[in-house]
Amino acid sequence: YAAKADGGRHRRYTADLDTSTDEEARLGAELRTALDRGEFHLVYQPIVELPTGAVLAVESLVRWWHPDRGYVRPDVFIPVAERTGLIVELGEWILRTACLQFADWWRHGVAPYRFGVNVSARQLAEPGFVSLVAAVLAETGVHPARLIVEVTETAVFGGGAAVRAVHELTELGVEIALDDFGTGHSSLGLLQTLPVRILKVDKSFVENVTMAGRHAVIATSLIQVANGLGLVAVAEGVETAEQAAELYRLGYRRAQGYHFGRPEMAKPLSGAAALPGLPAGGPG
Ligand code: C2E
Ligand code: MG
Ligand code: MG
Ligand code: MG
Repeated sequence: YAAKADGGRHRRYTADLDTSTDEEARLGAELRTALDRGEFHLVYQPIVELPTGAVLAVESLVRWWHPDRGYVRPDVFIPVAERTGLIVELGEWILRTACLQFADWWRHGVAPYRFGVNVSARQLAEPGFVSLVAAVLAETGVHPARLIVEVTETAVFGGGAAVRAVHELTELGVEIALDDFGTGHSSLGLLQTLPVRILKVDKSFVENVTMAGRHAVIATSLIQVANGLGLVAVAEGVETAEQAAELYRLGYRRAQGYHFGRPEMAKPLSGAAALPGLPAGGPG
């Protein structure tokens, strides 16, 4: 490592490291407080059918407004919550909150067909995670087939408990989506052994889809892989009508992104009129 030969740079490097460790410890402690104070909430983003734009599902995404820091991005605090272990408790809150919201939408006749919840590696590998999912579904009256658990390739890469959990969730009737597909380890190999039905093609492959030449090659290949294996591909991060049109031309039939709808808080439904034409009965 070059900086070892250079005292100044080495010291600076070390100082940065210390600062970030302090910062991480502070953030970790604040996350604990935030959960106790109820500073988290969920937003929901539509997943639509191409080309109609009909909403088929929503993905729940956690949000944190810190009293002093303001908005903290989940890709900043989720990794910290993973390292401190708070993700187990925070993840349970997220799962229950999303299920309660879905049950509420259902009661009001405005539920989408399915809803997705992101689950991190640590949660998935936690003993009792599948039992927790079963218990929360039972408690909220949501049918397992309504729930999509979104996991990243990295979370299941190591095999072991996480992979067992994926199999058990499938047996429960829950659907599994591989999130950020194509950015992790050994993406294609995983598809041979994991009972995954949905591939969420990462936005990095979607953003260049309208550019000429080699840029669209991966998005093109991944829809062929998905179709060949009988899986559903969802294009993530679709921001323009041009991207949506090109994705449709390539064979994509599911998309998510700012072009179709931003993640938003659920509107209060008490007193709202139910939509006509939706099946009556419980969330099952
Ligand atoms: P993800 O699961 O891949 O979520 C998609 C991310 O893309 C979200 O970022 C969403 O707001 C963003 N996005 C959606 N459409 C567009 C678009 O058209 N353009 C662009 N540039 N971005 C778009 P967000 O909410 O900041 O979340 C980032 C990541 O943090 C998520 O990636 C997920 O890995 C993690 N995360 C978010 N919520 C949760 C949660 O409840 N639990 C866990 N374990 N992780 C979560
Ligand atoms: Mg996701
Ligand atoms: Mg994703
Ligand atoms: Mg992501």
